[in-house]
Amino acid sequence: MSATPRFLRSGIAVLGLLMLALLSLLRPALAVEAQRVPLDVPVLDLTDVVERNKADGDVIQISTAPGADGIVRRIAVRARESGARPDWIVFALTNDSDEQIDRLLVAPFHRLIGSGVVWPDLGDRRIEAITASQGLRPEREEAPDADIFQITLDPGTTVTFVAELKSPNLPQLYLFEPEAYRQKTNGLTLYKGIIIGIAGLLALFLTIIFVVKGAVIFPAAAALAWAVLAYAGLDFGFFQRIFPLTPAIERIYRAGAEVVLAATLVVFLFAYLNLSRWHVRYSHITIVWILGLAGLVGLAVFDAPMAAGIARISIAAVATIGFVLILHLATHGYERAVMLIPTWFLLLVWVTAASFTVIGQVTRDLVPPALIGGLVLIVLLIGFTVVQHAFAGGALAQGLVSDTERRALALSGSGDLVFDWDVSADKIFVSPQAEILLGLSKGALEGSAARWLEHMHVADRDRYRVSLDAVIEQRRGKLQLDFRLRAANGAYHWFSLKARPVIGSDGEVIRVIGTLADVTEQRTAQERMLHDAVHDNLTGLPNRELFQDRLTAVFGFSRADDAIRPTVIVIDIDRFKQVNESVGFSAGDSILLTLARRLGRLLRTQDTLARIGGDIFAMIIVSESDPERILALAELIRRAVSTPITFAEREIVLTPSIGLTLFDGTPTARKDDALKNAELAMAHAKNQGGNLVEVFVPAMRSDRNDRLALESDLRRAIERGEIQVMYQPIVRLEDRTIAGFEALMRWDHPREGRLLPQDFLAIAEESGLIVDLGVYVMDRTARELAAWQAALEVEPPIFASVNVSSRQLLRHDLLKDVKAVLARRRVLPGTLKLEITESLVMENPEYAAQMLSRIRDLGAGLSLDDFGTGYSSLSYLQRFPFDTIKIDQSFVRQMGNGKPPVILRSIVQLAADLQMDVVAEGAETESDAIELYQLGCQYAQGYTFGQPMTAAEARRLVGASSSSFEAA
Ligand code: C2E
Ligand code: MG
Ligand code: MG
Repeated sequence: MSATPRFLRSGIAVLGLLMLALLSLLRPALAVEAQRVPLDVPVLDLTDVVERNKADGDVIQISTAPGADGIVRRIAVRARESGARPDWIVFALTNDSDEQIDRLLVAPFHRLIGSGVVWPDLGDRRIEAITASQGLRPEREEAPDADIFQITLDPGTTVTFVAELKSPNLPQLYLFEPEAYRQKTNGLTLYKGIIIGIAGLLALFLTIIFVVKGAVIFPAAAALAWAVLAYAGLDFGFFQRIFPLTPAIERIYRAGAEVVLAATLVVFLFAYLNLSRWHVRYSHITIVWILGLAGLVGLAVFDAPMAAGIARISIAAVATIGFVLILHLATHGYERAVMLIPTWFLLLVWVTAASFTVIGQVTRDLVPPALIGGLVLIVLLIGFTVVQHAFAGGALAQGLVSDTERRALALSGSGDLVFDWDVSADKIFVSPQAEILLGLSKGALEGSAARWLEHMHVADRDRYRVSLDAVIEQRRGKLQLDFRLRAANGAYHWFSLKARPVIGSDGEVIRVIGTLADVTEQRTAQERMLHDAVHDNLTGLPNRELFQDRLTAVFGFSRADDAIRPTVIVIDIDRFKQVNESVGFSAGDSILLTLARRLGRLLRTQDTLARIGGDIFAMIIVSESDPERILALAELIRRAVSTPITFAEREIVLTPSIGLTLFDGTPTARKDDALKNAELAMAHAKNQGGNLVEVFVPAMRSDRNDRLALESDLRRAIERGEIQVMYQPIVRLEDRTIAGFEALMRWDHPREGRLLPQDFLAIAEESGLIVDLGVYVMDRTARELAAWQAALEVEPPIFASVNVSSRQLLRHDLLKDVKAVLARRRVLPGTLKLEITESLVMENPEYAAQMLSRIRDLGAGLSLDDFGTGYSSLSYLQRFPFDTIKIDQSFVRQMGNGKPPVILRSIVQLAADLQMDVVAEGAETESDAIELYQLGCQYAQGYTFGQPMTAAEARRLVGASSSSFEAA
């Protein structure tokens, strides 16, 4: 390069107009067709007449277009940089006039038209240098936005031009008449100036609004306006005029402007539609989008076209998606979205036009500035839309409200109505919504206070009158009143009136003013809740509580009025549980409903029907008091219940047990007794097999006396030898040998016969007699155990377990008793076991743990009874020194039902892990025994191995003779 500096500076790489035949032989020469340049045409588009070439090296060989003389000459042009391989264009121009033609050859740097969407052409210098085959050398005219060369064509000449390109792209090449070019640029400059001016003002204006009002939409709109201004400034070349840029840098700026435009568009849409408020998803999408675009700004520095391409796609996408979104929100009643529809529609149109332009479908030269004008117009519209918001709130948005105004606003916000009674004029004003709400004609509620009475529920009128009078008389206080007003359709609405008197200068109440609220919903909800609390939710009948309440009321009346002689009837459905089990609960429910309906039909309005239990109905009859008639009614009830009920093509026949208390008229008759006595009578009916009506007689009321009698009987039971201890064998499942016995108490009552523990244990516990009974059973059992062990020397030794109840365990003396028994009876250590129920232990775990370990220390065994029926905490299991777990019968029963014995298996497993023995209770069949054995259970107790037996039978079983016992 340094070898040929002058050569280069001359701007022409030419020179050799050498007709070198030799050269032409070596390289094929290229010839061009000449384009005529008419004198009177101001602009000539040369874009399509140029020939594009690529030379192999830095020299290109050209055959010129034939001149007037027809001679074709050969020229060689050298590139400005040796060794470069630039693209070339060649074209020829003919001046066939007899005047010299001066023209400007113009190649614009940037052209939107046909610039493409992906990897768009962002413009750059196009032509490096031009060489003419003859005449004056084309002279470059400096311009910021185009390569411009002055060309002179002498009269009658054809000149071939060879141009070295800077970039392979040459989208346009024009030949302008100089004056025409100037005019065009001047005209456009004016237009561009106006557009830039508007855009600039807009950006400034929105920024100012942003400063004045804080809301996010303003900076978002302002940013958009600034982005548009930047883009326009760049595209119109204004920016470059202020800050000179090299074309390469300009490309980056251009791409950057497009990216920023895309980004601000997203931000604006997001901020305007308030997408962050309800849709977190939108926020995320937007943030990702913006981040992506921010990344593009960086990318623009390295690959401007790519960044611009993505930005263009983004703009199109935001315009389209945004439009869909706006329509969606607009159809859902979002007003802001509705307001943006026209603007966004215009944006969509603009994007379409721009797309057609950049892909080259629209080619008119004026399109790009028009597009920018359009863009500014859109921002202008956006500005208007946004500014509307700025001032829509008016003064209120500024917080410039007085306290009075704030109260007024709060009132309208609360939805309450204004109630204003001008007392002296006796004129009520109420917000018209009240009339609308009630469907009354306008003004129906206006007028004197008395006028309201005609719309008010009869029951509320007095209260209304009295309350208003009271406020006026007292001249202070607060009026709070709930009343019902009738709507035009006849329905009543509940209103809550809260008002205060206003005192005039004369000290009298001049008006009563406050609010009125429709509280119908709350009222009905309240009423429903009240109803639900005292009504059975299946049949809707009163429940036990309400029934009791009515009973009290009725018996109260009966004391005052001799004519009221209430009868209480209790109806229990026999074996309803079985019906429930066989037909299912929902069918059971509808049967109950049917029964409720049938029973209801038998009563008069004064009477009460209630459902006081699952399958128990109760009645208070006041409409009838003649015993004959009442019995007839009871019989009717019995028949009503026993009439078959068809259900799902099945006939279900039910029978009731009916008990009733006739009114005996005694002053001592209490309401509780009436129901209780009726229930007792019902129980009697049931005991006799049901389907029966029983009338209460005092003889039935033996319950409490029974108890007392039983208790005094129990006191003497031990001395009289009525307490028996039975022994139920516990069997080792492995070989079915007797492992031990459980002691179970029986009471042979002189009158009642043999009583089971459940018949008297409760009394024994309550009276404390259980302590003596317990010692007795323990001692007896220990004595038997000693006898068994003497007869049967096996390993491990035979054991016996004795049940201990809560009262016993809670007494400290238990330790003393156990100690005494063990000292007296010679049993092997650990073989006398105390059975303690899980629930008992859990009542007071800390205390139980202590007692148990001390019992254990005394040499007694410990067995955990009825395991699995309570809330067994497994961690406790480990803390208590039990050596045996007794699994409750219910688990064995479940196994029999065919359910997989999951729990059973895990209890057995657990016991094995804790090294405890397991006894399964209630093995009633052989198959139970087999299954228990397969589960790994070691011991079982149940009817299949033996019922509880007498001491003598137990001895026979273990082979101990009665005589040997006698000796012991
Ligand atoms: P428990 O300790 O769970 O006693 C087992 C009960 O199951 C006994 O009823 C026994 O007769 C019964 N049973 C045994 N095998 C089967 C069977 O295969 N099927 C069925 N269905 N039942 C079976 P019992 O004798 O009526 O005792 C009831 C409860 O009374 C006992 O339950 C125990 O908690 C308590 N109890 C019995 N005797 C005494 C006692 O002397 N003192 C104390 N404090 N409580 C006792
Ligand atoms: Mg037991
Ligand atoms: Mg048990």
